[in-house]
Amino acid sequence: MTLDATDYAKPLPFVTRENREFWEGCLRGELRFQKCARCGHVRYPAATLCPNCLFEEAEWIRSSGRGRLWSWIVFHKAYMDTFSGDLPYNVALVELDEVPFIMSSMVDPVEDLEIGAEVEVVFDQVTPDIALPKFKLSRVSD
Ligand SMILES: [Zn+2]
Repeated sequence: MTLDATDYAKPLPFVTRENREFWEGCLRGELRFQKCARCGHVRYPAATLCPNCLFEEAEWIRSSGRGRLWSWIVFHKAYMDTFSGDLPYNVALVELDEVPFIMSSMVDPVEDLEIGAEVEVVFDQVTPDIALPKFKLSRVSD
C-alpha cells in the first residue's frame, strides 16, 4: 500500500524547527524528547527554551515509549466530519517514564482499558511524512 498525503483528511501536526526531530523520530519508530543540557528537564512538547530553567541548549533522547494510562475519554460525537467514521473513539492521557504526560489515543478496545495500566507506544503512519504516536496496552509475558 502506498500512502498518499491526500488520503488522510484529519488534522496533521505542524512540523517546525523545534519539533522536527520529534516527528522524524516517530517516522523511524522512535519517541524522542529534548533533554535540557543544564538542568536535565525533559521537554514535551518540543520548545526553544527549557520551561524549568529557560536554558536553550538541549539534546534529543530516545524515550522508552513506556508508561501508564493516566486517563481517557470517549468521544461519541464527531466535532469534525473527518472523525465521524471513527466514532466512538478515545483520547488518552499517558504518563510516560520520561515526561509527565502525552495526549494521544489507545489502539485497544475501550472495554480493556484500566487506569494505571502499563502501555507502550506504537506508531500510526498516516502520510508519507507523519507517523502519529499512539499507545497499546503492554502484554506482560509470564
Ligand atoms: Zn533546564
